[in-house]
Amino acid sequence: MSPTHTRTTEQDATVQDATVQTTQPAGTGPDQPLTAPEVPVDLAPLAAVLSPGALVEDADIIAAHTQDRAVFAPSGRARALIRARSTEDVQEALRFAHEHRLPVIPQGALTGLSGGANGIDGALLLNVAQLDDILDIDTVEQTATVQPGVINRALKDALAPHGLAYPPDPGSVDISTIGGNVATNAGGLCCVKYGVTKDYVRRLTVVLADGSITTVGRPTAKGVAGLDLAGLFVGSEGTLGVVVEIVVDLIPAIPDPITGVALFDDIRAAARTITEFMSSGVRPSLLEILDGTSIECINDYGDFGLPEGAAAMLLVQSNGDGVLEKATKDLAEFERIAHAQGATEVTISDDPEDSEMFIAARRSVGHALEKYAMNHGGGELVDDVCLPRKALDEFFARMREIAREFDVLVAVAGHAGDGNMHPNVLFDAGDPDSVARAQSAFDAIMATGLELGGTITGEHGVGVLKKRWLARELDPVAQRLHLAIKREFDPRGVLSPGKMLGELSA
Ligand SMILES: Cc1cc2nc3c(=O)[nH]c(=O)nc-3n(C[C@H](O)[C@H](O)[C@H](O)COP(=O)(O)OP(=O)(O)OC[C@H]3O[C@@H](n4cnc5c(N)ncnc54)[C@H](O)[C@@H]3O)c2cc1C
Repeated sequence: MSPTHTRTTEQDATVQDATVQTTQPAGTGPDQPLTAPEVPVDLAPLAAVLSPGALVEDADIIAAHTQDRAVFAPSGRARALIRARSTEDVQEALRFAHEHRLPVIPQGALTGLSGGANGIDGALLLNVAQLDDILDIDTVEQTATVQPGVINRALKDALAPHGLAYPPDPGSVDISTIGGNVATNAGGLCCVKYGVTKDYVRRLTVVLADGSITTVGRPTAKGVAGLDLAGLFVGSEGTLGVVVEIVVDLIPAIPDPITGVALFDDIRAAARTITEFMSSGVRPSLLEILDGTSIECINDYGDFGLPEGAAAMLLVQSNGDGVLEKATKDLAEFERIAHAQGATEVTISDDPEDSEMFIAARRSVGHALEKYAMNHGGGELVDDVCLPRKALDEFFARMREIAREFDVLVAVAGHAGDGNMHPNVLFDAGDPDSVARAQSAFDAIMATGLELGGTITGEHGVGVLKKRWLARELDPVAQRLHLAIKREFDPRGVLSPGKMLGELSA
């Protein structure tokens, strides 16, 4: 587990959304604002219908559950934490909240990077992490049925003896829940070949804001009966309902890959390698990028054998769909293109130990940058723009300009094959001027993402950090549709009010 950040009062004060969020948990757009009642609602009747001990009112325990991993995302003072032990607990909690118009924040493992699971004033934190049973693995249908609190890695481990795989593999694979992955449509390292969470969600059982329960999606490998309501819940960040059971599609175990590493003394040469390689007809099973700052921070964090002094590194894998000759040919093509674009060094290896070490290095970048941030004033804002691949070259040029203009350090790592970049703005959280510059750089990165034809978030979600930017990305008709859907699913606006949809207008 990575260290959690301690947020400062300065941080709270500087984020515009924080004031809105903590003083009045607003409703969504034109909906009636949902404000925690002035006279606190008596929670004893709720405690009486929940599993024994599920309702927690201890302030310290609540505080420990009020913040996800996003730094600078505001959070308020929640009223209580509910550790759901059953689907009935989830239903009872929502029935009660609906009746008393209390805000509810669904939570998994709190590894989110956008503040989506953060507490707000007067809210009930509805944590489903303890619903963590793998209910069924069906080798004929090739599905697994899980409760939302199952950790992604636990599902992968349970499937391995059956020769089956559940591909989505966010960097948080060891600590995030499948429910949270569904609610954020989590991606990861393998998406470039195997897709994201939504590509594996077959069926969902969801408790709606009023406590009613429904199962959406399809029972079979195919099915076109009705609208794709399951798809609507994927990526809805807890604003439409609480997912209590998930049926995911599985695939046969993924073959071992061959790994390649290319080093560059100019990150734009790495960008051109990405675009040319992705248009070569090869579909890698992984294509990641680390810039020079990220490499330096990783080397400072642990010994993963990464080189010193490179401006960028591409990490690529191909499994050739199980055919060694094909994988070898794919990597040879990568090597040819990287050299043609000016790579200073390219190494190809079929040794699983090399592969594991490089992947471990890539997965450690979040922790490595956190360590750097902690030693340099504690400030870190993680962007998540996703760009058309051919815009990556221009994007890296703009990142340099943004770092220079706002005088901040920007470290870029990302899922290069998808164009999904994570520029990390690193700054001194104790210096108001540094904080203001970092916030401007964070915004400038999202503006650049949109300008270059991309999106503000490829996988981390909107939460509270990017809600102002969602209103800039969606056109007016799309905003109206979002709010109409929200009202239909949650007419009293109890679910995560003022978060993802909080800045949209009808
Ligand atoms: C080191 C690190 C690496 C990461 N790498 C990646 C990555 O590569 N790709 C990626 O996509 N993300 C990544 N993340 C972000 C994060 O892990 C994902 O967003 C993950 O899906 C969140 O899961 P969680 O269980 O922690 O959910 P939480 O953080 O608890 O919640 C996330 C959101 O989902 C909602 N939610 C949670 N559970 C439910 C439920 N059962 N029903 C309805 N709503 C619910 C919450 O309200 C919130 O809006 C990373 C995070 C860390 C710390």
